Amino acid sequence: MEDNFQKDNEMLREKASEFAEKYFSDMSLEDDSIVTKIFYCDENGEKCFSKPHEWGAKLNVHYYWYVVDTLNEGRTGEVDDKTRTVTIAPEYLNDDVTLLHELIHVFEGLYPAD
Ligand SMILES: [Zn+2]
Repeated sequence: MEDNFQKDNEMLREKASEFAEKYFSDMSLEDDSIVTKIFYCDENGEKCFSKPHEWGAKLNVHYYWYVVDTLNEGRTGEVDDKTRTVTIAPEYLNDDVTLLHELIHVFEGLYPAD
């Protein structure tokens, strides 16, 4: 039981990493990503970050925990930005759409709030 729990969490994490690379590469702070260019400077040139590492860490799905657990009220998945935890309901463990949806929230959480 405990073994499966670990295995499932690991699987989620690996999938999140794979999806991030495949579908969210524009949202990373790699040199060739769209977001990097936006964050370097806004239209007025007022809000500039000279280098991503000066602004903070890279936007990375690895900063989150991935956990399979029962959720309330028929929820399929959720993201807690305070604890940086992505929880996926056991029935949706293999539903890629659920994880992809939650990864959108992860990226929202990784961006500066203002
Ligand atoms: Zn949502």
